[in-house]
Parts: sequence; structure tokens; C-alpha cells
Amino acid sequence: MKTDKVFPECGLKRYELTKLLPGHKAGDARWNSGKTFGFVYHPGEPHAKISEAYQEAFRYESTLNPSAFPSLRKFEKEVVGMATELMHGDSKVAGSVTTGGTESIFLALKVARQAAVETGKNEGPFEVILPETAHPAFLKACHYLSLKAVVVPVDGQMMAEPGAMQDAINENTIMLACSAPCFPCGVVDPVRRLGKVAQKYHLLLHVDACMGGFMLPFMEELAYKVPEFDFRVPGVTSISLDAHKYGYAPKGVSIILYRNRELRRKQFFIHTEWSGGIFASTTFSGTKSGGPLAGCWAIMNHLGREGYRTMARKVMDTTRIIRDGIENMEGLHILGDPSMSVLAFSSTHGNIYNIGDALASRGWYIDRLQFPEALHLTITRLNLGMADEFLEDLQEIMGNKEELNSARKGMQESVKAVEMITKLLPAGITNKVARRAGSQMESPGEEEGSQAALYGISASFDNRKSVQRLVENLLDGMY
Ligand SMILES: *Cc1c(COP(=O)(O)O)cnc(C)c1O
Repeated sequence: MKTDKVFPECGLKRYELTKLLPGHKAGDARWNSGKTFGFVYHPGEPHAKISEAYQEAFRYESTLNPSAFPSLRKFEKEVVGMATELMHGDSKVAGSVTTGGTESIFLALKVARQAAVETGKNEGPFEVILPETAHPAFLKACHYLSLKAVVVPVDGQMMAEPGAMQDAINENTIMLACSAPCFPCGVVDPVRRLGKVAQKYHLLLHVDACMGGFMLPFMEELAYKVPEFDFRVPGVTSISLDAHKYGYAPKGVSIILYRNRELRRKQFFIHTEWSGGIFASTTFSGTKSGGPLAGCWAIMNHLGREGYRTMARKVMDTTRIIRDGIENMEGLHILGDPSMSVLAFSSTHGNIYNIGDALASRGWYIDRLQFPEALHLTITRLNLGMADEFLEDLQEIMGNKEELNSARKGMQESVKAVEMITKLLPAGITNKVARRAGSQMESPGEEEGSQAALYGISASFDNRKSVQRLVENLLDGMY
């Protein structure tokens, strides 16, 4: 079978690649316009430049060998030290820099499993109790580590229920987890009450502050009402916080902190019998670039606490306007009582995904939730000054019956159709096809992509297995 080669025999000239460069981004989200929520956390110019210079300088160095690159070891110790101060940890607190929230959470669960194995108290499978709003990274980690995730419903305010989580404890339970705040609706779980439960049953308690770690402490300093969530709460044994979100560090930096060094030791992997020598690594990844860590160290030192406070205040000013605007708009309501700049809203007037599509057609790039059906906003520095335009567009959409009520029909048939289409077509264009298929379910022939249909399907469709297969096909086809 003859295939088109993708690896060129003769390399492209430098000028050829340079000419191609701008074109690569043509179809990407235009985050610089201020109409993309989340995904990109940019510190703004000229701050970004200094972080970029540090990234550049350490791009080829590897964090795997601390004795070869003492610079990177220093950066890591200092970033962990700054994060510890932010989380009000004492001198016993220890941690590591990781590649992201997923790795931080993975390691916290690995430590919990290791601790359970060492006590040898039972056979397992060990169980981790999570509120349903907890990030899927927990489920992914459980999947890889052969732990059982016990997912407990949240209350009407989208908050973890300590009573219900306590009821789920049995002799296999090793850890409780919660969020500060959760990604879906920005609500901080009742950490103090969960800490009490964890202590009573001698369990570990992980607080996922991937979102809030670089916002909530500064908001507290600015006298916002911030729920307790960090090491000041008895019973909290580990915290994850993402520098590559509101820490405005380059992508690929998160921090995992433990109450003490004994816990952190359980995270390490050491293999003494390798023909290549004694192999020791502190986190999950092997070789990784020193660039993101160096960039993170630089931006934290450059902004300082004062810089982060200023950023947090501005982001919260914009959030306040958007939140008030949504709350005052007839037919819309915010889910729960979000603590910071992450929030979700739903509608009693017309389908919320249609509202999402209508916003998308006006250039806004936003996330969707499925249980309950809602739209999701992560407001960052890039959205400053955009609140009025956003609310005007939303107001206009809420007044447009046609946009609100365009029918969603034939859902179940459509899932099969999309599945067929993604199977039949060659790789590479399935992404486009999926989007187009989504729009065709609503109104055949329409060219603009509609995510409402796809999300509508997944939320309303009874057979989750089919949704899983559909997504598998999409992923498989996309790469
Ligand atoms: C982003 C996020 C994660 C996962 O982090 P990654 O950096 O995407 O791996 C986990 N929990 C919360 C609350 C998050 O916002």
C-alpha cells in the first residue's frame, strides 16, 4: 500500500519554515482577543518576556539529574518553598514540581497507596472518596494505580457533603479528596469539616487547589471572603496547585505539597539493579525540559506577591461585573456560590447549549458542563475589559427566541450517525466532521459548527457506553 510520506527526505529551508509559521495558528483560538475563557493564562507584556528568557535559557537542560544542573534544583526548591508559604505550610511541609495538575494528583494518590501498602492493613483494592465535582485527573490516577474511586454526589450548592463522604468510608478507604475550588463551578468544598472526618478515621486528605492555589491566598490578603482550605486546616495532608494556571507560569508546571517529608518519600521511585546504574526519580516523568520550571521561577520572582495581588484584584473586578450581569439577567442563574473567577451558569429560558453556540458565533470561546447542563467561564487577565461586551452579547442572545429555541431532534440516531462517519472517514478530518455533524443534527446544511448538539447528546443520552465509544473514535481519528 502506498502512503503519502510525512517525514520529508530533504529538510525545509529555514526561510520556508519561517514563512509557514504564522499560518499554523490560523485556526486556533484567538486568545489575545480577550474572548477566550480559560486555557491560556498569560501574565501580559512585558512580564512574559522575562519568563520567556528564562525558559529559553534552560530549554535543553533536563530536570532529571539534579547534580548535573544545580540551577534547576535551586529553582525547584525555591518554587516549592514559595508554594509552601502560599499554602501556609510550616517547615515540615515538603513537595515537588510536576508537569501539571494531573501529575500532582497522580502522585498524591500514589503516596496514599504506598502508605496503605506499608501499613499492610488490608488487601484492597484501596478506595479513594471523591465528590462528583472533583477533576477527572483523580479518576485517571485511580485507573492507572488500580485504586477504586468512590464518587459521592454533591449538595444543591455543588459542594462536597462531608456526611455523605463519611458514610462512604470502609476498611479499604485510604484517602478523601476535595477541591479549592472545583473546576466545574468554582465552589470551594468544606475543607475544615472534611479534615475532621479524615482525622477521625485516620485517612489522608488531598485538597486540589490546582485552580485556586495562586488566587485564593492573594484574595484573602485583599480581604475577599475566602473559605479555609490550606495547611492551616487540621487533617489536610497534601495540596496540589498549578503554577501554569493563575501562577501565570509557562505550561508544564504544577506543585504537589505534603504535610511532611515522610509522605513525600513515598512518592519517589528508585531502582538499584539497573545495568545503567542506580536510577532515582522523584516524580512521574523522566526526562523533562528545565524551561518551564525556570520560566515559573522567573515569573514568581518577577511578579512577587504584590504583582499577583494586583492581578487577582483586576481579575476579580471583571468577574464581579460578569457575575452580577448574569445574575441580573432574566432566565439565567449561577450554579452554587463560586469563590473566585471560575463559575458556571445555566438557563431556564431556552437551551443553555444554544446560548453557548450563539456566544461562539459571536467569537466567544467557552466551556460547557453536562451535569447539570451549563456554560462555564474561567476569567483570567486576558478577559479584563471584556465584561461589558460579553454581557451585551449575552443580553442580545437572551432576547432572541430563534437562537434560544432552535430544536434539538433525533439525538440517538445522530450518535450512531456520528459514530459511522468518524469510522468511515480518513484520519485528520474527523475533528471537522464531528463539528459539522453536530451542526447538521440541528439544521441540515448549516456550515457553522454547533457544539450544542454534541454536548446535548452526551448529557441526554442514556447509554454512556455509546458516548464513550463515540469519543474514542474521535480521539483515534484526530491523531
Ligand atoms: C486543571 C485542573 C486539574 C488538572 O490539571 P492539568 O494541569 O490540566 O493536568 C486538576 N484539578 C483542577 C481543579 C484543575 O483546574
